[in-house]
Amino acid sequence: MNTFVCVVGAGPAGLVTAIGLARAGVPFVLLDAGHGPVTESRGLVVHAGALEVLDELDVAGDLLREGTLVRDFRIAVRGRALMRIPLGEVPSRFPYVLLVPQATTEAELYARLAELGHTPLSGHRVTGARQDGDHYEITGEDPGGRPFTVRARHLVGADGLHSTVRDAIGVGLPRHTYDTAFLSADVDMRDGPDPGLAHIMPSRHGLLFLAPLPRGRWRLIISVRSPGGRRPDPPSRAEVQGHLRQRGLPRATITTVHKSAGVLLHHGIADDFGRGRAALAGDAAHVHSPAGGMGMNTGIQDAHDLAATLATIHRGEDAATALAGYRRRRMDAARQVVAFTDRIMRLVTLDTVAVHVLRTSAFALAGLVPAIRRRVALMVSCTTRTPARTGAPGLPSA
Ligand SMILES: Cc1cc2nc3c(=O)[nH]c(=O)nc-3n(C[C@H](O)[C@H](O)[C@H](O)COP(=O)(O)OP(=O)(O)OC[C@H]3O[C@@H](n4cnc5c(N)ncnc54)[C@H](O)[C@@H]3O)c2cc1C
Repeated sequence: MNTFVCVVGAGPAGLVTAIGLARAGVPFVLLDAGHGPVTESRGLVVHAGALEVLDELDVAGDLLREGTLVRDFRIAVRGRALMRIPLGEVPSRFPYVLLVPQATTEAELYARLAELGHTPLSGHRVTGARQDGDHYEITGEDPGGRPFTVRARHLVGADGLHSTVRDAIGVGLPRHTYDTAFLSADVDMRDGPDPGLAHIMPSRHGLLFLAPLPRGRWRLIISVRSPGGRRPDPPSRAEVQGHLRQRGLPRATITTVHKSAGVLLHHGIADDFGRGRAALAGDAAHVHSPAGGMGMNTGIQDAHDLAATLATIHRGEDAATALAGYRRRRMDAARQVVAFTDRIMRLVTLDTVAVHVLRTSAFALAGLVPAIRRRVALMVSCTTRTPARTGAPGLPSA
């Protein structure tokens, strides 16, 4: 099979790259080892900066109908509100956060790609890629275990944290694993907090984050110690209930746990966002804690920029110059996000009594200063890092 771009990975980053290429009329193949949207509990928060990108690709409208809108994150200790992050005040035509499971976001992206006449090749696991003159030869196994080869002028690695493409092009992603992990649980709950807000509740026992989901459910994120980087087991209902009691919600009662998982947390950034005519996007290029909910959002923005960059190359622009611009813009964005999430992790997960007292006072003071609240909202909303504001080329329509 011969094509202009071979995109490896049909997670959010690969799907957005493919939709952008399809809209611009650039020939491509999209390969994925899996079969359809993610089923595990992953991303939930879609920020204004990603909604702007998804809107341009005609995906935001459908997604907004599927999720819950929240305009404020509230930081509270033992029921006392200390600080509000006013996401409703960010300068965007989407002045809020959309809470929608990543499975739904991916399903909408699959549907949009199908409308544009394309389907990912599912069950196609890439095992290697090598440069052969002015082409890449990408090899792997199809769903029947038979070998396949794709020849492409450009290669996109959107194949997640353990990227085969990143290894094949010789780029490293040095990362640090935190000794705090997260438990994630999607639950039904009685007597919980205000469902109109997302709640961040640091305590001396660790962090509790609660976000309202569609149909009255809640997503809970609970920090736990994981010395040695051991992935915690998915929590039971009793365990989740115990964490709520301990961390400031004694009256809330968990009635059902629908999905739960233990998640190890890393942070790091690839040595470069590509090499030659290959480029990396999403978790293949940067990894950070889900605190702030910016992983998928940043990957979606990378992907839009990359699709627009490849479209300019397809129309005749010099590939080396255009891809160098992509790598510079998106590494810059990723550095900001990785540094910010690392600061949040340190702030919210330190759990000695002394640190907790200091942190509570710091939040209370920061909560009194509107400029600090607005700055945090701007950072989290991802709006300053959208391709339109970082000098990326616009995405043409075929
Ligand atoms: C508990 C949790 C909560 C999170 N919350 C948020 C949030 O609220 N907001 C947010 O923005 N982010 C969040 N994230 C992060 C988010 O889930 C990831 O950043 C996002 O999924 C990355 O997208 P991606 O497309 O880069 O990679 P992935 O989603 O990992 O997709 C990679 C794709 O590549 C395919 N693949 C892998 N290897 C191969 C191969 N060799 N050949 C072919 N295909 C291959 C896989 O099948 C997969 O489909 C959260 C993550 C977790 C774990």
